[in-house]
Amino acid sequence: MPRKIDVEALCADKGLRITEQRRVIARVLSEAEDHPDVEALHARAAAIDPGISIATVYRTVRLFEDAGILERHDFGDGRARYEAAPESHHDHLIDVETGDVIEFVDAELEALQRRIAEKLGFRLVDHRMELYGVAIARED
Ligand SMILES: [Zn+2]
Repeated sequence: MPRKIDVEALCADKGLRITEQRRVIARVLSEAEDHPDVEALHARAAAIDPGISIATVYRTVRLFEDAGILERHDFGDGRARYEAAPESHHDHLIDVETGDVIEFVDAELEALQRRIAEKLGFRLVDHRMELYGVAIARED
């Protein structure tokens, strides 16, 4: 997946004032290769700067989300999870047994969704697709 989105640069683009603690949280988000919740973000940020409270992480992710820098997901377990807003769209498949999240893009699915929207009289501007599954045991 195309990763390493520079969250701090996005903050600068959006004109957000960047404090030292926000910079640390932005760095943790830039380096995340998963979809961490606030507790996981806090653990990673506090490992860099122990002065960062979970309340600061909450406020910061809210701020970044409102600015369109972060996407918030709910993968069915009631926890908000975050990722830097990807430059290219992708969807998610969630392993309901392990909680693993797999990212995918499928051109047919994208086209189908556009056709459905058009049939209903709309031009599609966004969508969320989450698939929930259990891994099929393989024999090999
Ligand atoms: Zn993702």
